[in-house]
Parts: sequence; C-alpha cells; structure tokens
Amino acid sequence: MSKQLQNIKVRLDESLDEKLRLLEPNYSSYRILRKSVDARKRNELHEVYSLEVFYPGEDTSAPDYPVEKINYDGKPILIVGSGPAGLFAALRLVERGVPCILFERGAPTNQRMIKINRYWRYGELDTDNNVCFGEGGAGLYSDGKLITRIKSPYIPYVMHRLVKFGAPEEIQYLANPHVGSDRIRRVIPKLRDYLIENGCTIHFNAKVEELLTSNNKMTGLKLRDGRVFEGDHIILATGHSANDMFYHLNDLGVAMEGKSFAVGLRVEHPQKAVNEIQYRGHAEHPKLGAANYKLTHHDYSDNIGVYSFCMCPGGYVLSSATDVGSIVSNGMSNYHRNSPFANSAIVISVDYQKNFGSNPFHGLDWRNKLEKDAFDAVIKAGGTKQLPAQRLTDFIKGKTGPLTEKNSSPSDGIATRVDLLLPDWIRTRLIEAFHKFDDSMKGFLHKDAQVFGVESRTSCPIRISRDDTTLESLSHKGLYPCGEGAGYAGGITSAAVDGIKIVEAILKT
Ligand SMILES: Cc1cc2nc3c(=O)[nH]c(=O)nc-3n(C[C@H](O)[C@H](O)[C@H](O)COP(=O)(O)OP(=O)(O)OC[C@H]3O[C@@H](n4cnc5c(N)ncnc54)[C@H](O)[C@@H]3O)c2cc1C
Repeated sequence: MSKQLQNIKVRLDESLDEKLRLLEPNYSSYRILRKSVDARKRNELHEVYSLEVFYPGEDTSAPDYPVEKINYDGKPILIVGSGPAGLFAALRLVERGVPCILFERGAPTNQRMIKINRYWRYGELDTDNNVCFGEGGAGLYSDGKLITRIKSPYIPYVMHRLVKFGAPEEIQYLANPHVGSDRIRRVIPKLRDYLIENGCTIHFNAKVEELLTSNNKMTGLKLRDGRVFEGDHIILATGHSANDMFYHLNDLGVAMEGKSFAVGLRVEHPQKAVNEIQYRGHAEHPKLGAANYKLTHHDYSDNIGVYSFCMCPGGYVLSSATDVGSIVSNGMSNYHRNSPFANSAIVISVDYQKNFGSNPFHGLDWRNKLEKDAFDAVIKAGGTKQLPAQRLTDFIKGKTGPLTEKNSSPSDGIATRVDLLLPDWIRTRLIEAFHKFDDSMKGFLHKDAQVFGVESRTSCPIRISRDDTTLESLSHKGLYPCGEGAGYAGGITSAAVDGIKIVEAILKT
C-alpha cells in the first residue's frame, strides 16, 4: 500500500531522491503532495515536502477529479465575462453536459495582446481590450499566483484543469503555486478551444449592455450591437472594473452594497536586493529563484492595516487602466520570474461604512477620482502614457527627485509627487508602515526602490448581494453575481472556484 510521508526536510545541498532512499529503501516512485521552502531561519534554508510513496507493482495514477454529466433540458445558461470566474463556470457546465453561451466584451487573447501593447507603448487605451478586459479577464495579464486564502474542495479541481490545459504540473503541489503571465496566455486559448468543442458558444467583441428582466426575473440580455439572447439563468462575471455594468444594475434596482477594499501604490526594488535580504548567503542559489516577501503593519488603535499584496518577484509593473483619462498600477511576472526587479502593491484597508456610509457607489466614485488624479498628474508632469513614479525615499520625505535609471514597466514612469496622489491619512499610514517594514526586512528602504501610483484595483468596492445558499441575486431571480466583480472572490483561484460553485448551485435548483 502506498504511504504518505509528511514534513520531509531537504537541505539546499541535498537531493530529495537520496533522502527518500534512506527513509524508504524499497520505494519505486513517489508523487509530491506539497512542497514549500522554509526560509524562516535565513541561514538554514531548506525545502519541505509531503509525499505519497509507492512500492513496486502499485497503481501510481493521480486523481483526475471527474465530473458527472446530468440530463438538462432548460435553456442554455448565459455567462457574461471570460475571466477565471466565467471560464470555470463554462468549463463546469460543459463537463456537466449543460449548454451555455459565453459573452466577452473584448477580443481573443492574441488580438487583445496587440491592443495592450499599443496602450503601453503609445498610451492608446482600448476600453474593451486592456489589462483587465478581453479574453481571460484580469487573470490573463495577472502574475498567475494561484495561492488563495479560501478553503474549498474545488481548489484541486481548478489546479488539475489548469494543468490539463497547459499550466505547469507543480501548481498541484507547490505551497505558492504560480503560472506566470506568459504561460497563462497559452493556457486560456486551449481552455477556450475545449469549451467550444464541447458545447459552449463563445461570442467575442460582444459587450453585454443590458440585462433583460420581467417582474425582477431574468429573461435574457442585449449586446451593444443590438443582438438579443434569451435565458433565464445569467452568470454575471464581469470583474471589478466593469463600472458601466454596476451603473446598469443600479438602474435595474439590483440589490448591491458597498464593500471595504484597499488602495495604495506599487513599490519596486532591484530583485538582487530582495534576494540578499531574504536569502542572505544563499541569495543566488539555483533551487531558490527570485525571493518574495510578505509584510504587514496593523494599527490596533483604529484597526487599520497596511500590507503587501500581489507581490511579483522577478516581475513587471503594469499600467492597467480601463477608462480613458485614468491611470492604475498593477504587477505581473512571467513563469521564470526573471526580470531584474521585484514589485509589490502596498495597500491600506479602507473600511466602507466608516469612509463612505451606505451609498454603494461612493467607494467606486472615490476610486475613479484617485485614478483620474493620477492621470492628470502624469499629463501635468509632461507625460503621455507613463505611470506616476517617485523614489521610495522621496515619497517618505515628500519631495521630487530623479527616478531610478531603469524600471520594469513597459509604460515607463515619470517623476511625479506620488505622495500627493493619496489622501493625507493614507500617505501618513504608508510612511509609518514603510519604516516598520524596514525594521522587519532590513534594506526595504533601499535607495533604488521606487513607487508607482495608484494601486486602486486590488478588490471591488461593491458587492452584488446574493443568497448564501442559492447564490442567486437577492433582488432578481435567475441572476447569479459571480467572481471578483460581484464581491465574492479576490484572485484567480477564488474567482474560478466561485464560477464552479455558482454552476453547482444553479444545477441544484
Ligand atoms: C495585472 C494583474 C495582476 C494580477 N495578479 C494576480 C495574481 O497573481 N494572482 C491572483 O490570484 N490574482 C491576480 N490578479 C487578480 C485576478 O486577475 C482577478 O482576481 C481575477 O481575474 C478575477 O476574475 P473574474 O473572472 O471575477 O473577473 P475578471 O478577470 O476581471 O474578468 C471579467 C471579464 O468580464 C468581461 N466583461 C466586463 N464587462 C463586460 C460586459 N459588459 N460584457 C461582456 N464582458 C464583460 C471583461 O472583459 C473580463 O474579461 C491580478 C490582476 C491584475 C489586473
């Protein structure tokens, strides 16, 4: 019988196979169940494994998370948005044998990428094809970190299917699974082809402008080009940047509420400096790769937290606005995490009630203003398409100064008072946190660290209210708010899981 071994520690100069031969001399093969790097003691780094060990003659096949087909004779289920939530909803439906139609406002991956490159290079923003919109959603240009704080039995299914469509196998066992933007862009088209071959119709360049209702029940939807599609189940997975959809839902009287979120900026360091701080003498060890960090500073007197978010070792700072006249920063990395820079959002939690009261749109309006002010500052500084940038040390001192010689952003940066783009209470908290971060990660206040603004799309400031069990809108029958834009996910994996949960909830009714 195969046997599970937990907590096997392997030093950087050891090999797992040799260690295992000592522990289990008769094993024939093994499957890694979990792998992490323990870097808590920076001079004694080691890898930690959990394994399933097999002996001669045993069945070594891995679980493949099969899904049972059902008999379904209703209308096709309509899905709006092809981010991780919409795509995984479609995949689950197809695997269940249920017909569905997916609508995406943007273009397929390759065409979308051309438009994004034009934005980074010339500042020409396409409001349907950008870092957040188009096939694959925000997930397509994401860093591809698949770690999530949610607990769900669907997580192994999501990882398995991503691997099936070309993601690296190790995402099934790494403690910090990561696909990388370059590899995600190869996975999504394969997933799309599979969906089409198996009963999902996909319409690209098909912006849904109206949800059609009768007596607060969904009856279908209307596209920008006037085409109408009938359906009594609509999975709405439009992401956290589809402002126009939120306003449309408000016009329909769909139940929504404000939701706490986070804003701040993105900080970039030379990766070499982060490796040296985190790994010391092991900094360039080939088993380790680009080092990351996780930092938090919590002020218990008023319960406000500042924390690092979406850290991208070996990554790139991206300009990722969706609206003309706005600027938003974000980050990504490729599979090999081999750019010479490390970036991370540093954000502060913004309590909804305390800051905006009960109007669900005040948070969104405030976010829009931050992004517009950032754009205006760039224009004022003589820029066109650059991100507002400032050295970290200048941010702290509240002064302008020359930028670092190089940065990772394909849009480049332009010297701007990033500190003035954020309200006083946020700026002072950030400065306090930067000093604390330098205490716990000596060298964080590096002379060549630079900040970019504004990091405003970490999560959605609105939640579309839904029933905890049926996952249906509280106000409209047949409407299923899904994923990050609906306020029920905070990343690729949780959005994908939400798509699956919605499908299972619909099929139960
Ligand atoms: C640069 C960047 C890096 C990120 N890095 C990570 C990371 O490393 N790990 C992680 O977990 N998360 C990351 N995220 C966040 C992650 O991408 C999102 O949490 C996730 O994509 C949310 O999935 P979703 O399906 O809910 O929405 P989205 O991915 O936002 O997808 C929404 C889709 O709906 C479409 N749409 C919108 N309106 C309409 C309409 N009216 N009609 C038709 N279609 C419409 C959009 O075009 C889009 O394709 C990153 C995000 C960005 C922008």
